Amino acid sequence: EMSEESGPARASSKKPSEPAIFISVDRLPEIQDSRLRLPVLAEEQVIMEAVRENSFVVLCGETGSGKTTQVPQFLYEAGYASGTGIIGVTEPRRVAAVSMSHRVAKEMNLVVSYQIRYEGNVTSDTKIKFMTDGVLLKEIQKDFLLQRYSVIIIDEAHERSVYTDILIGLLSRIVPLRNKKGLPMKLIVMSATLRVEDFTENRKLFPTPPPVIKVEARQFPVSVHFNKRTPLEDYTGEAEVHSVCRRLRRAFPFRRGNTATDYSDEMKKFKKAKHKRTVSLPRIDLDNYSALPVDEGDEDRLAGIDDEGSDLELGDDAADTEEKADPSLPLYVLPLYSLLAPEQQAKVFQPPPHGTRLCVVATNVAETSLTIPGIKYVVDCGRVKKRFYDRVTGVSSFKVSWTSQASANQRAGRSGRTEPGHCYRLYSSAVFGDFSLFSEAEITRRPVEDLVLQMKDLNIDKVVNFPFPTTPSAEALVAAEQLLVSLGALEEPPRTGRSPLQILYLTIPSSRLSCPISPLGRAMASFPVSPRYAKMLALGKQQDCLPYVIAVVAAMTVREIFEDLDRPAGSEDESSKLAQRRARLAQMRRLWAGQGASLLLGDLMVLLGAVGACEFAGCTLKFCEENGLRYKAMLEIRRLRGQLTNAVNSVCPEVGVFVDCKMAPPTESQVVCLRQIVLAGLGDHLARRVQQEELLDPKWRNGYKTPLLDEPVYIHPSSALFKTLPQFVVYQEVLETTKMYMRGVSAVEPEWVPQLLTQYCHFGSPLETPSPWLCASTGRVKCHCTSTFFRCGWQLPAIEM
Ligand code: ADP
Ligand code: MG
Repeated sequence: EMSEESGPARASSKKPSEPAIFISVDRLPEIQDSRLRLPVLAEEQVIMEAVRENSFVVLCGETGSGKTTQVPQFLYEAGYASGTGIIGVTEPRRVAAVSMSHRVAKEMNLVVSYQIRYEGNVTSDTKIKFMTDGVLLKEIQKDFLLQRYSVIIIDEAHERSVYTDILIGLLSRIVPLRNKKGLPMKLIVMSATLRVEDFTENRKLFPTPPPVIKVEARQFPVSVHFNKRTPLEDYTGEAEVHSVCRRLRRAFPFRRGNTATDYSDEMKKFKKAKHKRTVSLPRIDLDNYSALPVDEGDEDRLAGIDDEGSDLELGDDAADTEEKADPSLPLYVLPLYSLLAPEQQAKVFQPPPHGTRLCVVATNVAETSLTIPGIKYVVDCGRVKKRFYDRVTGVSSFKVSWTSQASANQRAGRSGRTEPGHCYRLYSSAVFGDFSLFSEAEITRRPVEDLVLQMKDLNIDKVVNFPFPTTPSAEALVAAEQLLVSLGALEEPPRTGRSPLQILYLTIPSSRLSCPISPLGRAMASFPVSPRYAKMLALGKQQDCLPYVIAVVAAMTVREIFEDLDRPAGSEDESSKLAQRRARLAQMRRLWAGQGASLLLGDLMVLLGAVGACEFAGCTLKFCEENGLRYKAMLEIRRLRGQLTNAVNSVCPEVGVFVDCKMAPPTESQVVCLRQIVLAGLGDHLARRVQQEELLDPKWRNGYKTPLLDEPVYIHPSSALFKTLPQFVVYQEVLETTKMYMRGVSAVEPEWVPQLLTQYCHFGSPLETPSPWLCASTGRVKCHCTSTFFRCGWQLPAIEM
């Protein structure tokens, strides 16, 4: 174990290359005491010397060793924020950016700012700024040299979030540029002790390997208890939770027979309170182990908590603290997840009320981002919930799967921060042995068209040459480039002997992946949504459709706006209530879908109707609960609408849209316009109903064909178009559940396809009837031509040319 004194002693053997400025910080004595106990403090001199002498430094150390809270303070004290530049720290998660800024502010007695997607408190006096990695990426787009910063710390680099990866790649170029210009800048990459070789041994990234400073953390021994039974496929592992509780009970006899608290009522309050974000905390009877939310059997509820994209994974830690806590005390249960209000998050850092023991039920935000003090027991379900995406077919599915060994060990380590701890794994050691060693970098398992567009906007035309810490597959890059060309966001590749259609669909050699961005692409890149939706926003001006397009896009980018009412019910009573609410939601969906013309906008009309109705009702929790809408999703949509409106206004000020919360429903002609805008954005997601003569195999009944899949896809029974079965539809995505279902379906008129998706069509020879005619206004001869949807050979209506 390292003592506090060893740091300075080691450092004094080397001479610092620059005189250190020292800015004094006025810390409270108790803060000073707790800082001195952090392992990173022993390394202050070593770290600061490495930073002075190198542009790039990698710092790794166990979670909880003090990297995030202390390194910005070291830099501040050494004068890195006293010139014109400030200290910037990026976090992959919003929750960490906010909570760390508060913590550092408290420790330093100083204003420390944060900036996350929708909010922040940055002022011109800001010296230290925590932000999400996405925020810094946007700033690079505005100022490539990041002149406001003297140091950037990329925190949690081991999480390998896509934006973090790209930031490291970009900063590996920006820092030398800054140094050349005489505006020196430093990059510090901080990571838990996980596979730093991806950064340090990557010569494309850093031609000379940066120094790696390891902080030895005090880690107390953790006894890991495996479950003996082979775990059930049921991920909630109810049986496992019970078995762990039984074992815990043996080790620490809990008080029996404490049935004073009615668990089910408490849980209801607990659930409700979470939605309201004002948690009045339940006291849960320990004999009712099933009171642990990990045991709820409702994965979507817990997963749904974290619907902000970067936090799709789900891990559960349940632990009680304080060794000497009386085991007969009731648990004081706190939730911890990304979107929880900051005041609620802060509660996990405070001692629990007298006479209770703290139990935190967390997603994997507690795995590395936040260190909860004094955790002694960790219950690890061993699972993560991840989105799986098939690059070739574009089919997505959410799957709960085993986590990696590295992250399971990380979870276990959380129990040994202040004294020896225990980790109860709800799975057997044999299963653990089969886990992959590390979790994959996110960039390898998701579509990359949005990144490619962002990079092109930074004028990085040859994305394949970009120094990614882990390079996405060539296939994924090609697919992204093709999509962007077809959306018009990139200039078409230079034509060779092939037709542009062939260039689009045949695999482009990776050396050709260098199409520059188009003016439309620049506008699209400034919208904080993925390219298909950005295209819709760019087209939205027509016929005053923009407010509707904004509402639809906002609703489509929020993961799920409807409550999951198909979940298994716990009791008969609940089951009949669920049935009632399902019926109510189905009725509302029909109402929102409208009739006649609007019905053809399909599921997107339902989204629009739901958003409109909810806004009319003032977007209240009550309205959402009564009508099967997820309250949090509706609030998110509201914020997103505001944000998209600002983005559109700043790109095309002449349009001047404003968010009218209470929109009147679109007119018939606006609905037609909306359907066309949707088609233009989702053109590569066109599907055609199987025709009678093709119905050889019964599985194709009511099925649709898509360009990329061999198997049929279907319209979901809950879709507004389930009964209509239009000949052509576009869909938002295909999600594989019991069948391959299209989500977000909208009907398309066949004649729009050759008109709006020329890039996907092949035009044949002119038709003889009607005979060619002279167009009076243009003076050109016009005629009808046959058209086919390229690649599938679907016959489309003839088009006037
Ligand atoms: P690392 O970044 O190396 O994981 P941190 O700097 O996040 O470490 O944490 C250092 C210590 O500060 C931890 O022991 C943690 O418990 C404590 N800490 C962090 N935030 C708070 C807070 N809001 N209140 C009390 N302690 C905190
Ligand atoms: Mg940290």
